Amino acid sequence: MTLFRRPASPSFRAEEVSAASLTSRRTLLQMACACCVALAAPRALADAMTPEVERHLAAARQAAGSDLEALLVLGQSADPAFQAPTPDLEKLMALPAPPPGKAFDNLYFVGGKWVSAWALATSDGIILFDAMNNEDDAEHTIERGLKAVGLDPSKVKTIIVTHGHGDHYGGADYFTRKYGSRVVASALDWTMMETKLEFDHPLWGRPPKRDIAVTDGDKVRLGDTAVDIVITPGHTMGTISPIFDVRSGSQQHRVLLWGGTAFNFGHQPERLQAYVDATARTREVAKQQGVDVFISNHSFYDGSVEKLGAVAAGGANPFVLGASTVERALTVMNECAQATLASWKA
Ligand SMILES: [Zn+2]
Repeated sequence: MTLFRRPASPSFRAEEVSAASLTSRRTLLQMACACCVALAAPRALADAMTPEVERHLAAARQAAGSDLEALLVLGQSADPAFQAPTPDLEKLMALPAPPPGKAFDNLYFVGGKWVSAWALATSDGIILFDAMNNEDDAEHTIERGLKAVGLDPSKVKTIIVTHGHGDHYGGADYFTRKYGSRVVASALDWTMMETKLEFDHPLWGRPPKRDIAVTDGDKVRLGDTAVDIVITPGHTMGTISPIFDVRSGSQQHRVLLWGGTAFNFGHQPERLQAYVDATARTREVAKQQGVDVFISNHSFYDGSVEKLGAVAAGGANPFVLGASTVERALTVMNECAQATLASWKA
């Protein structure tokens, strides 16, 4: 697998990492990750930025405000001197899982500290978004978490694998073997999982066998629930970013789960351009559909672990960001990608 190396003495810019909400995620950011994580806390960018790069980074910072700072780590790669840090996957995978919890009446977090798994309860069973690293995670984090929140793991009918990296598919086989769950992925990522894995690790489970292939615009249905499949190429070329409804009492909200965040595919301008296009397009889709909740499959991007505690405590649901904040989140990712692309062209 590709390893990333960290500069010997990275300098941090205090104003970029000052949010108190990031503190508990600092460990994760410092350890970084191979597959899906954007690699260490923001650091000062080299002085030699072109005006175009600077303009995009300024736009990203402006969009991020103080509440979306976690996404600014993506902008680091616009610094030509930036070298992504060496991941410590074993350490990340060994982090104790946070307690599972309810984000909405029909959406539950059943993931780990590093990589998330979400369970969407329907009238005819459960749609699981991602299956974590391996069968051990599937059994001890996801299955145990489902039971803890009062859901029946044997009702996991569908697993939507957001993209073909092992930290998202590794536990899928556990559910297919034990409960006959069906596995959904994009056609492109099925092919990648069958032919040439972009990343692999001895601790990751093997890819599931090709099952249901979906493409952009498809709907995955279970009982009373439909999940819209939006393909957002970049992180992998077939990344799925699903959109679906959730309930909170009498309120209904619409969720976008961004399926692949980091630019960890090396110097591939056409792929980064695909990411730019995907974030811009999804921003329009989200606006049209009134998406007011934005979540991730890695909790340090969306603060989901911290937010679960606030939901349990009652009061306003911090997962409900509002449409304009969802738009800002997509703008941060888009501008960081544009900044990186501009630095590659410089
Ligand atoms: Zn990934």
